[in-house]
Amino acid sequence: MYGKEIKKILVSKEAIAKRVAEMGEQISNDYANQKITLVCTLRGACVFFADLMRAIHGDVEIDFIAVSSYGADTKTSGEVKMVKDLSEPIKGKNVIVVEDIIDTGVTLSYLKKLLLAREPKSLKICTLLDKPSRRKVTFEGDYVGFEIENEYVVGYGLDFDQQMRHYPDVCVLSPEVYEG
Ligand code: 5GP
Repeated sequence: MYGKEIKKILVSKEAIAKRVAEMGEQISNDYANQKITLVCTLRGACVFFADLMRAIHGDVEIDFIAVSSYGADTKTSGEVKMVKDLSEPIKGKNVIVVEDIIDTGVTLSYLKKLLLAREPKSLKICTLLDKPSRRKVTFEGDYVGFEIENEYVVGYGLDFDQQMRHYPDVCVLSPEVYEG
């Protein structure tokens, strides 16, 4: 169903659905009888977020935040800036930040520090994908869907230059796309 912009499907929509159900179950058990505030990091996590929240039973509130570290290419600029803040305070709340992918770790280290300063009751990081080999700063997710190799992926919310977010599978981008 994909064109030559896609090298291969890395994680199929079926495999994603199975893993998201497991992660939702794990989170539901870990927070039994406690309220959770799920924070979606825009825009990449939006598809994962929508699926994950429906896999969690219990009291869930949602909020959205946007920080950016990437321009219109596949390399990080190393700079993080806040683009959109949360709508509600998180003081005293059990917060789970939902991210699409941890790559260098720069974005989430910045975000975690920023949110911890607001004194939540607890703060955990949930990511669909993790590329541990690319870390520039030490950082670990608390809930990780899949560890992947150092390849640029698109689909299931992840983009290349704002395109391909709507692809249902996590796919490896063909190098020709960004090498021109
Ligand atoms: P970090 O700060 O950990 O290097 O970068 C995290 C952000 O970089 C992710 O939220 C995502 O937006 C972007 N990113 C990192 N690796 C990839 C990738 O393979 N594909 C896409 N589409 N975005 C990526």
